[in-house]
Amino acid sequence: MTQPARIVVVGSLNMDLVVKAPRIALEGETIKGGTFSTMPGGKGANQAVAASRLGAHVHMVGCVGDDGFGRELLDNLHKANVNTDYVTTVSGSSSGVAMIAVSESGENSIVIAPGANDRMAPEYVRQAESIIREADVVLIQLEIPMETVEEAVVIANRHQVPVILNPAPARSLPEALLKQIDILTPNETEGKLIVTGRAEGDIDVEEIIHDLKSKGVRQVVMTLGGEGVAYSAGEAVQRLKAYTVDVMDTTGAGDSFNAGLGVYLAEGGSLEEAVRFAQKVAALSVTGFGAQASFPSRTEVEGFQ
Ligand code: ADP
Repeated sequence: MTQPARIVVVGSLNMDLVVKAPRIALEGETIKGGTFSTMPGGKGANQAVAASRLGAHVHMVGCVGDDGFGRELLDNLHKANVNTDYVTTVSGSSSGVAMIAVSESGENSIVIAPGANDRMAPEYVRQAESIIREADVVLIQLEIPMETVEEAVVIANRHQVPVILNPAPARSLPEALLKQIDILTPNETEGKLIVTGRAEGDIDVEEIIHDLKSKGVRQVVMTLGGEGVAYSAGEAVQRLKAYTVDVMDTTGAGDSFNAGLGVYLAEGGSLEEAVRFAQKVAALSVTGFGAQASFPSRTEVEGFQ
């Protein structure tokens, strides 16, 4: 591999506002918390930063607001070596924020105000067509409007650039869209919701994967948290156990997994090799605190057994 993988991420940027508290406040209640920190996040930006740390050339396509958080989010991507030529500052909009309370017992409560992410019109993706055309892989998630997701998929397909769609946060998806996806990477809840229209209920992993494939998705890679992963291998479903590590914080595990999968496939690896690599990336990410702060470098992944 002489050239670094070229990855385009189409997705969200958020500022995470995190307060530690003895417990999660009840409705209508005010409690005194502990430390406060701001951390750049958003599934799109997380995947972009993770892919860049793995050695890829990454372009981000997204929107921030014209506020201080927007400037910090851009600055954070620059520091991570992610190209932001196609990150638009939307005037009159706030940046996306996630208000997160984390209790001592590890519970959390999260409210997201999407801000500029909700203002990301398909036009912004059309403007980035020249870089999508040149990409080896496009990574997309669902924290931006569905019509924009659809436009990104159409453009990638037009240029035969493989699309990895991480269908998070969970929602149902139109079948016309599923037919255009090269690799869908739901977790169990997301997979269930797409197949049955409900997040609960009993349906086994194999059945979800077969169903998604029958709806036209080319490959399915379903992440199963600490259990590992199940993925489609021809007509069969293959499972791989997760690596055993000391877990500190699983925030961003899915994002780092998607980035690892995308980078390895972009470098010409097989699906199975890419899944193994992605599991290493995600396992290392859960050993550190926070999302972006815990994403491993290429050297760390290659040294991990
Ligand atoms: P999401 O955060 O999108 O729900 P998952 O929780 O399924 O994603 O995790 C994504 C991947 O991260 C898993 O497939 C696995 O490889 C890795 N992972 C998650 N939790 C752990 C864990 N406790 N130990 C080792 N690896 C983990």
